[in-house]
Formats: sequence, structure tokens, C-alpha cells
Amino acid sequence: MDYDGALVVFLLCILLLSVCLRAQTPANSWFAITAGGPEVASEVLQRAEQAAEAALQSLQPVFPLLPRQPFRIVVHGSEESLPEGLKASHHVGSPGFAIPAQHEIHILADLVRHDSSGMQAVMAHEITHELLGQLANPFGELLPRWAHEGIAQVLSGETYLDASEENIVWRVSTNQLLPFSAIESDFPRDPVQLRVAYAQSFSFVAWLEQQIGRARLIKLVDEMDKETSFWRGLVLATNRTSAELETDWHDYLLYGSGARSRSLLSQCFSLLMILALPLLALAMRRRMRSEAKVRERMAAQERQQPPTFAEVPYNPPVDADLDFAEEDREDRKDHEDREDREDREDREDREDRKDREDRKDREDF
Ligand SMILES: [Zn+2]
Repeated sequence: MDYDGALVVFLLCILLLSVCLRAQTPANSWFAITAGGPEVASEVLQRAEQAAEAALQSLQPVFPLLPRQPFRIVVHGSEESLPEGLKASHHVGSPGFAIPAQHEIHILADLVRHDSSGMQAVMAHEITHELLGQLANPFGELLPRWAHEGIAQVLSGETYLDASEENIVWRVSTNQLLPFSAIESDFPRDPVQLRVAYAQSFSFVAWLEQQIGRARLIKLVDEMDKETSFWRGLVLATNRTSAELETDWHDYLLYGSGARSRSLLSQCFSLLMILALPLLALAMRRRMRSEAKVRERMAAQERQQPPTFAEVPYNPPVDADLDFAEEDREDRKDHEDREDREDREDREDREDRKDREDRKDREDF
């Protein structure tokens, strides 16, 4: 083996060793996570740390030799609690931003979706910015903003500000897409244009990834230097001019992405909802009317029905024994009256007889 051959083997061994050592390094040892203020609960910070760890692990196959430098993640409660010096770096409505030159990531907890994948998607987006910065170093400033945001959205699997190809597909035919030169160094501040910029970056980069593959796309970032801009790398990789690339992407957006049919479907759905509103109102009126009728019928039935057992006024039952006692008393009284009458008649009879005997005796004397 000659000297050059031995050197190549030695360098390959070093590379292999560094890859092995990197694989053993825990993901969370590359970043330090802190709360931006007391308004950030410890559970939120813990959730953010776990999400950052998972996001970094998911990105390492795309950036096998990164990170090279540790970075800092600061979790803030809301945009209002951001320090004044950081507010200018934040795009209203986005749940985070990165400052790769300072190896800093800032997360706005109140703008992160509260489902299981919300925090991890935001972390993956912002960590991608950090890793792109480290990969492009020292030419990080050469990577266009649209490429930064496009790659971050594609790798995280989610867009910011609910941006989608459906939002922008109609702009192709009306020539209202943003010129890429206008989103080269920064994104617009106007909310509508900002959303278009996110959607356009996502769609263009997703289409580029389909053309040359993810690994080649990321390698273009690594290959940038003073002579090789990202655009130049794209032209070389695709063998198409930048104008041809834009035209081909427009065609894809119109005819290959399915965005037009998705947009039409959502418009049809909205239209159907609008058309269905009078029918819904009619159905509601009918239902309310039939319910009112049922209530009236039930009320009428209640009025016609005899009172239920519970509604009968309570009359204590007549005491049969007492009644019989009363009858007995009456019978006894009748009997006594009859006896008295008979006694009186007997007495009168006896007196009459005695009078007659007395009278007879006197006549005998
Ligand atoms: Zn971003």
C-alpha cells in the first residue's frame, strides 16, 4: 500500500469512528433548553425537551454528520413575552423561529398545536434551520430564505400558518406568485403574502425533492460556496435553467400536484354548504313546528285524561264499624222507645182497670 492509499484508509477510519461516536451521543446533549420566563410551566418545558430530542433523532439520517455545534432552545410563553430584541425575528402567527448564526431556537408555546405531534413538528422545523446553518457554514447566508423554509417544512412534514398548495394554485394562472428574488433574503410581513411565501417555498422544495431526491437536495446546501449559489447548484443538478425550473414547477402545481382539484373540492364543499343553508333552515323550521305540535297534542291528552291516582284528593275512608255503631244506637233507641210506650200503655191499662174495680166496689157498697 502506497502513502496515498494508507492516508485514505486512515481518513476513512477516522470518519467511521466519528460516525460511531456520534451515534452513541445522546440527542439531548447537543442542545440546552430553557424557559424564556416564569410563565412557562415545567411540564411545557419537559414536553419541549422530549420533542426536541425526538426531532433531532428523526433528522440525523438526513444530516448524518450533524450537529457539529451545540445549540440553545428557549421556550417562551407567547409573542408578548418575547424580549424586544427578538420580536423583529418573529413572523406573526408562526410558532417558532431560529437564528442559526447564533445557534439559537425560540419557541412560542401558545402558538404550538396542543396535540401529540404539534411540538415535535415545530422542533423538527426549527432544528432543521439550525442544521442547515451548520451544514452551509461558513456560507449560511447564501442559502435563500425560501430554501430554508421550504426544506424545514418538507422535513418536518408540516407547513407553517396552515399554508398549502391549494392556497396558491390559482395564483399561477393569474401570475400572482411571489418572485423568488423577493423571498431570497427575508419573508414579507403582510400576513397574506407571508402565507403565500410559506406555501410557495414548501411546494417548490417538495417538487425539487421529487426531481433530484432528498439526499442530493441537502448536498446542494453543503456544496454552496462563493462561486456556487444554491440556484447554480440546482441548475447543475437538474440540467435546467432557473426559468425552466420555475415553469416546470408551475406545470406541476397546476396539473400534477392535485392542488386544483383539492381546491375545487373545498370550494364546492363551501358552495354546497352555502346552498344547503336555506334547506337546513327549512328543515329546522319543520322540526320545530312538528315538536310544537307534539307538545300541543300531549297537553291536550293530559287535559282529557281522568286525573291519575296521585291527583285524586285524599278522602279518608269511612269507618264501617263507627257506622254500624251508629245504626246500633238508633236501633237500641227505637227499641227503648217502643218499650217505654208499651210500659206506659200497660200502666194506663192497669190504672183504668183499677179505676173500674174501684168504681165497681163503691157501687157494691
Ligand atoms: Zn422556518
